[in-house]
This record gives sequence, structure tokens and C-alpha cells, in this order.
Amino acid sequence: MTATTHTTGAPLSTALRSSAELIRAEAETVAHNYHPLPVVVARAEGTWVEDVEGRRYLDMLAGYSALNFGHRHPALIAAARHQLDQVTLTSRAFHNDRLAGFAEALADLTGLDMTLPMNTGAEAVESALKIARKWAYEVKGVAPDQATIVVAAGNFHGRTTTIVSFSDDPVARTGFGPFTPGFRTVPYDDLAALEAAIDDTTAAVLIEPIQGEAGVRIPADGYLAGVRELTHRAGVLFIADEIQSGLGRTGTTLAVAHEDVLPDLLLLGKALGGGIVPVSAVVGRRDVMSVLRPGEHGSTFGGNPLAAAVGSAVVDLLRTGEFQEHARTLGAVLADGLAGLVGRGVLRYRSRGLWAGVDVDPAIGTGREISERLLTEGILVKDTHGSTIRIAPPLTITREELDSAIGALGKVLGA
Ligand SMILES: *Cc1c(COP(=O)(O)O)cnc(C)c1O
Repeated sequence: MTATTHTTGAPLSTALRSSAELIRAEAETVAHNYHPLPVVVARAEGTWVEDVEGRRYLDMLAGYSALNFGHRHPALIAAARHQLDQVTLTSRAFHNDRLAGFAEALADLTGLDMTLPMNTGAEAVESALKIARKWAYEVKGVAPDQATIVVAAGNFHGRTTTIVSFSDDPVARTGFGPFTPGFRTVPYDDLAALEAAIDDTTAAVLIEPIQGEAGVRIPADGYLAGVRELTHRAGVLFIADEIQSGLGRTGTTLAVAHEDVLPDLLLLGKALGGGIVPVSAVVGRRDVMSVLRPGEHGSTFGGNPLAAAVGSAVVDLLRTGEFQEHARTLGAVLADGLAGLVGRGVLRYRSRGLWAGVDVDPAIGTGREISERLLTEGILVKDTHGSTIRIAPPLTITREELDSAIGALGKVLGA
């Protein structure tokens, strides 16, 4: 391959380009739908990433939970490497030898029956909405095109046109209409409002067991059990979006396990791909999933053997319960550390397992400013709305690493 040169004669290679140059080039050539912190990651392992200049950072965001097992977990990399040497893509025009095992593993992990394999989280959400509507027409007998789905205020379920149709975040919506009808929004964590919104047209209730983007909003004890009881009684489906909350993050395999409930449809994504490939799934009850018949829904990449191999390896990691237990143990350390900062730069925090939303005193700085200060301390976090910082380290983080991150947060807050 010959080296490509542009008009100044400089090689168009990414090697030897500084972080500052790469950030400038990205601003010129990549759509500005994100506002990344000024760090250019070139390598990563476990809980650590390294930038182009060789500076090391502790990753306290973990790809919004896509990296629950850290960067390049050896077992996941080995599974991906092995599969790269076998077969990577067949399309579902043919069977592949990895898909059945992946679906069996998910059934075993969740207690549900069948899997619809997709790629991104938004696709899993879209797929579940389609399944719920079809179930409403075919099983529940809702009149054609009248099905409604109840969602919660402050939700985040992805970025497609239909999904932003029922977002209440003006930044996510404005300029993207017209929107998909058929959604009703009720306040989160309000069972009476949910009950009032359900009627004969209702196909499903779609809820995040903990609202991540909203700032790690944890509902009151009894809410999830209440949603389960209510949906059961009303004959509507309970769809739990565990794309961010699931797969060990909160100290249990699923966040709904904190109230010992099982939804009818469970949405998984992010960590299911092991930080290697996009893998998502709708996992559900057989009688509900069975409304899909050949040709009615699909995905070229969904269920591909590479994704299935990595997803199966992710499920294997979760089988022993050690990540869940570690998330509980270190989650207590995280909560203690944050409690110690309340009144010293932190207004309040919410946490479950290794997942926390920290409301910083706006007088000290915006969430963005605090994130930038933490970056200079070698800690990667991300702000969410306003003055809230989200903390979600890899579940492989050590006690010492967690202590140092909490120490750095105290330092930048001037505690
Ligand atoms: C990230 C996320 C999604 C969307 O996943 P993508 O892979 O970005 O499409 C959906 N729901 C929740 C709760 C999420 O956190």
C-alpha cells in the first residue's frame, strides 16, 4: 500500500499526530453531535486508558456501562479472537453455530425464554415496541393502529425518530419532528399515574429500572414490584430497559432483581457486547416473542457469530456472580466516599452498586467543568444534565483505584 499524501506533502497517517491536532481534525470532519472531553484515547486495558501522548487515565465512565468488564477483558478478547478465525457473519439467511448457544445462555441468565438478537440499544428498544404493538393487536385484540405504550418522564431509550418521539428532553427532540404517535408519558416513580394512564389500548409499559441519563434516578422501594403487579393485573406487557442498568452494574445481574421481579420483555445492550462489538437483545416470554414471524422484522448483523460469541462470553463472566458481588462491595465503598463529600461540594448523590449520579454544588462548577478538572487529575467521568456527574467505573475496578477517584473528586471540589 502506498502512503497517501495531501497537498502539503505530509503523510495522512494518524501516527505521530498529537492529541491537539486530532481534536482539530475531528472538529473539521466529524459531525458535532457530541462534545467530547479533550482527551484522545489511543490504548486501554482494564480500568485504564492511555492517550496519544502516553498520559494515563482511570476510566470512571466505562462507556456508559458498555465496558462493565473493563477494556479488553482477556476472556472476551480471547472469545472474539477465536471467533474471528472461524466465521464472523452469515446473515440470518442461514443458521450459524453460535446463535443458539447465545440465546440459551441469555435464557439461563435471565429466566426468560427467547431472544431477538439486534445490535444497538436503540434497535432493541424499537424491536420491543414493535413486538408489543403486534402482541396488542394479535393477542389482546386492540383495534388496528390504536395501540398505546406508556413511558416515564425523564426517560432515555436511544436516538431514533420513534424513540425521541417519547423523550421529554428538548435537546433530543427539537428539530426532529414529526414524531411517532402512540405514547403516553407519566411521571417516573409514580404508580398511581401509571395506573391512570393504562386503558384498553395499552400494549405495554416501558421503564428503565433506574434512569441513567436522568442522573441515576432510583425509584422508591416497591415501584418495580408495583409496575409488575399493575401491568400483570391490567394485561399489558412490562418492558424493562436494562441496557445501562443490567449485566452486573447495580450489584445484581439485572436491576429488576432488587425487587425480585421479571419483566415480560427485557432489553439488553451496551455491556452485552463486552466493549468489543455492538450487541443488543430483546429477551422475552415465549408467547410474546412468538408474535414475530419470518420476514416481519430483521437485522443484517443481528445475531452474527462474532456478536454471539462475544455475548456468550459476557454471559459466562456473569455466571459465577463475582462481578455482581464486587459491584455490591465496592458500591458500598463508593456510596461511603460520596456521603463523605455531601456538604463539601456535593449537594446529594444517588447510587446503587457501582453506579452513581452526583449533584455538584453549581457554585463550584458545572458538571462539565468538574469533569474537565477531573480529567487533569487523570480521572475520566462525564456530566449529565446540568451539575450532575455520572460515575460508572468498570466492575473490575480495585478498592485502591476507587479510593483514588473519590479522593480526586474531593480535591477538585475543594473539599
Ligand atoms: C444507551 C441506552 C440506550 C441506547 O443504546 P444505543 O446502543 O446507544 O442505541 C437505550 N436505553 C438505555 C437505558 C440506554 O442507556
